[in-house]
Amino acid sequence: MLEPHYNTVIIGAGPAGLIAGVEAFNPNHSIVILEKMHKTGLKLRISGKGRCNITNEESMQSFLNRFGKKGRFLKYAFSQFFNHDLLKYINDLGVPTKLERGGRYFCESDRATDIVVAFEKKLSDLNIPIAMKTHVTGIQKIDGGQYVLQVKQGEHQTQVLADQVCICSGGLGYPATGSTGDGYTMAKAFDHTIVDTAPSLVPVLTAGDTAKRVMGVSLRNISLSIWDEGKKVAEMFGEMMFTRKGVTGPIILTLSETLVAMLESTKEVQIKIDLKPALDHKKLDQRLLRELSNNSKQNFRSLLKSLLPLKMIDLFVDLLEIDPAKKLHQVTGEERKRLRMLLKEFPMQVIGHDSYDRAIVTSGGVSLKEIDPTTMESKLTSNLYFAGEVIDVNGETGGYNLTSSWSTGFLAGRSMRNNDFGR
Ligand SMILES: Cc1cc2nc3c(=O)[nH]c(=O)nc-3n(C[C@H](O)[C@H](O)[C@H](O)COP(=O)(O)OP(=O)(O)OC[C@H]3O[C@@H](n4cnc5c(N)ncnc54)[C@H](O)[C@@H]3O)c2cc1C
Repeated sequence: MLEPHYNTVIIGAGPAGLIAGVEAFNPNHSIVILEKMHKTGLKLRISGKGRCNITNEESMQSFLNRFGKKGRFLKYAFSQFFNHDLLKYINDLGVPTKLERGGRYFCESDRATDIVVAFEKKLSDLNIPIAMKTHVTGIQKIDGGQYVLQVKQGEHQTQVLADQVCICSGGLGYPATGSTGDGYTMAKAFDHTIVDTAPSLVPVLTAGDTAKRVMGVSLRNISLSIWDEGKKVAEMFGEMMFTRKGVTGPIILTLSETLVAMLESTKEVQIKIDLKPALDHKKLDQRLLRELSNNSKQNFRSLLKSLLPLKMIDLFVDLLEIDPAKKLHQVTGEERKRLRMLLKEFPMQVIGHDSYDRAIVTSGGVSLKEIDPTTMESKLTSNLYFAGEVIDVNGETGGYNLTSSWSTGFLAGRSMRNNDFGR
């Protein structure tokens, strides 16, 4: 049952809202978190494939770089609450963590849900209720500076009065978890600018049946480049995977923001996969020559076996149009060149991207120019705060996005804790 009035209302019980709730705690304030879904932190529960990649070991500067130019906005929040503060916080809530490759921290139990349950317990210990299945459908400011929230609980409509509000409603990705962009509409009601949103960290779709033929193949230690009218615009080294309709995996997700933006202006974008980045063209040619002369009686298929994942061999045979039974001593210089080019510059046309349904994060959101980075308070209207993905800041995969949500949620909570609402 909701009270008619609270000092502090937090909209959304994702990572940003949960920590904002804990940090807003003030024994003299009444606080509530309103969550429209039947469970808290639905997205957090599935994060990191259900294991939750909490944060990353990286230094502050390279961490900030993972957010591009907008990373600067997070500098103050991170100065107050950064990766090791977050880990200690989560450990103190009773959830042990562990470090894995790439500097990524996970729950020791490999269960993201443990974090959600720990936050629920902490909030319950502080007597801060979470009103579930409680959908905020509108918000306005009334004379006197208080906020009126329109709230729907099933068929029941009601209003809640608040002295301060924090919007932690997330972005638009994986809408089944509850993030459907409601926060943008709420922010617009106070004249906030919403920077154009787009799916980010999203798989991309490629032309033809190439991806489908090698679906499920995961490539490690490869280099992938993006090309625009013959000019290389980006390149990244790492891991990727073929799907039924295209490509995904860490480097694709990271480069997806660039790809999605390019697709806006042109219909097709070319990517090239370098399957042998450790060898330049000359060294690779020398290796091929060695293989051809050392194994001259073997056939072309056996050469491909030594160079490629098994599932890619038939694809290479078809693309190269070289008889797989051909003896290696019969392979011509021109055929060797074709093979080298395909290994170094395996081309794919990107023709689209998956929808928000598969987007790990949303790019765009409430404009950074209109939020005070030292408090997370709106610069346009007092006692209104924003935290988490609703803000126009998004990072790469590797624990960066959750850290940003927790850090901005922490800062917003602390700011609200000490607020006397201008009285
Ligand atoms: C599959 C997947 C895996 C991911 N894995 C990782 C990872 O391992 N590491 C990492 O750093 N990041 C990861 N992310 C990204 C990360 O989960 C998000 O950036 C983060 O959850 C954003 O937190 P948030 O609190 O801002 O928003 P959300 O987690 O989206 O929470 C917003 C909450 O607000 C509620 N809400 C929305 N509108 C209303 C309303 N009108 N009224 C009431 N409640 C409302 C929603 O129901 C939701 O509970 C992953 C994302 C996905 C989709």
